[in-house]
Amino acid sequence: MTVKVRFAPSPTGPLHIGGARSALFNYLFAAGRGGTFVFRIEDTDLERSSRESEQDIMKALHWLGITWDEGIDAGGDSGPYRQTERLDTYREYTDKLLQNGHAYLCYCSEEELEQERQELSSRGETPRYLGKCRTLTAEQRQVYEAEGRKPVVRFRVPEDQDIVINDLVRGKVIFESNGIGDYIIVKSDGIPTYNYAVVIDDVLMGITHVVRGEEHLSNTPRQVLIYEALGMKVPDFAHISLILNTEGRKMSKRDGDTAVMDYFHKGYLPEAVVNFIALLGWSPSGEQEFFTIEELKKEFSLEKVSKSPAVFDLNKLNYINAHY
Ligand code: GLU
Repeated sequence: MTVKVRFAPSPTGPLHIGGARSALFNYLFAAGRGGTFVFRIEDTDLERSSRESEQDIMKALHWLGITWDEGIDAGGDSGPYRQTERLDTYREYTDKLLQNGHAYLCYCSEEELEQERQELSSRGETPRYLGKCRTLTAEQRQVYEAEGRKPVVRFRVPEDQDIVINDLVRGKVIFESNGIGDYIIVKSDGIPTYNYAVVIDDVLMGITHVVRGEEHLSNTPRQVLIYEALGMKVPDFAHISLILNTEGRKMSKRDGDTAVMDYFHKGYLPEAVVNFIALLGWSPSGEQEFFTIEELKKEFSLEKVSKSPAVFDLNKLNYINAHY
């Protein structure tokens, strides 16, 4: 199988160590298998996305020596792959989903949704959308339209379905569809949500393996349901573990810089930073501690990525940096 992977950051801030690790693992995985690596900007959060962050992410990747075959600045006729430049494509698939009943228009107001959430919470149930607009008639829709309500598009989640994910790092993970609730795939301003745009892009770009941070594992069943509704092949998933500090807690500035470019400004060597990031959750088979990026390309495999949290230890980075 020809491997095709992607790194798909949201440009809402600088590239952090965690993002750099996702980029690196994808890059190494593709490089070691003669695969293709796509760089895609997921800028559907219009308020928080900026070209400045996009530039920072690209600069940091260049500094680390991580290059890509498709996407922004890759040359050829691929891309650019910015989601905000692909709205017509998403619209085409939304129409299909609306036509075949896998999605529907929802006119509920924020107040109505909040009330529903509160009712469910007070009964000890998971807050979720209960499907009030699932069966609206054309007349009811007209009334809402006349009131000036702008609909969102919701995905119709099938009932009583186990969604099984055979994750290459975490093994078999099962989610129940009943806990999910119909979720928004297109907002009232016509902008797709992350869970929707990511699927359309991964399908159209022919992505075979989705390698990303564990924080996205809970999004995966929502994405799998969209693949299934479109009759598209579900890619292989690999969710890589969280990065914690040496005390087992979420990393903060006190544990070391989290933005990659801070290490550039402090004079660290990119080879050392790459070597350090590669070892965040991945263990080589032998005793070797220091790797060039070329050696990493040969050595890296997802089987050797651990599902327990990776530990960020600045002393280790300094130790590696001193070696180069
Ligand atoms: N845009 C998402 C993020 O930056 C990427 C998620 C994914 O790789 O699917 O977290």
